[in-house]
Amino acid sequence: MTDASVASRLEQVLERIRSAAARAGRSPEEITLIAVSKKQPVDAIRAAYGAGQRVFGESYVQEGLDKIAALRGLDIEWHFIGRIQSNKTRQIAASFAWVHGLSDLGHARRLNDQRPPEAPPLKVCLQVNLSGERSKAGVDPADLADLLAACSVLPRLEVRGLMTLPAPAEDEAGQRKPLASLRRLRDQLATAAHPLSCLSMGMSGDLEAAILEGATQVRIGTAVFGPRPYN
Ligand SMILES: *Cc1c(COP(=O)(O)O)cnc(C)c1O
Repeated sequence: MTDASVASRLEQVLERIRSAAARAGRSPEEITLIAVSKKQPVDAIRAAYGAGQRVFGESYVQEGLDKIAALRGLDIEWHFIGRIQSNKTRQIAASFAWVHGLSDLGHARRLNDQRPPEAPPLKVCLQVNLSGERSKAGVDPADLADLLAACSVLPRLEVRGLMTLPAPAEDEAGQRKPLASLRRLRDQLATAAHPLSCLSMGMSGDLEAAILEGATQVRIGTAVFGPRPYN
């Protein structure tokens, strides 16, 4: 990928966000694009950064840490969007601003205890399993209220909302079902103290459906960077 092609793909994704927001009667400013750079080289991140992108998502801890080190000094907000493993929580807590995909109280407590004192509280989205998800990750909706209550008292975490990673669906109507369920769960659980204003949902293939259902953070990899080049 050349710098120019990353920049033009990025512009196309921003246009998709704007037109889906218009369809939904929403302001595009409510929606943050997380450029998912997993498996992409550092140069691709630099190209997107050069085109104005500031928020990036990584799924693998060591790969993410290497990129964070390589790009230190740039004004990037790093989101960890991968599976959390207990033996990696210290590194996640030290290096990322956000964690999506938190669904285990033990992990939450470790991240809370390991968040460096000089850093602001770690922003988290709780992952909910709504559709027999491909990764089987995420908390069962029936257990979400308890997890939320337990996480809400951890002072070094700031629970900002919910995240989901649905199984692929055939069409937009099918895509919207689990996304609408996530929004309804949020509406049921939101309180003044914890408005759960973030809905982290939507990937390259279901970005429009997610914005129609209220996504505030879309996690887009392939549509920004092209196919992932290495594995
Ligand atoms: C890889 C990944 C994405 C981005 O997927 P694309 O289809 O490439 O846009 C989004 N969210 C999570 C959790 C991912 O692992």
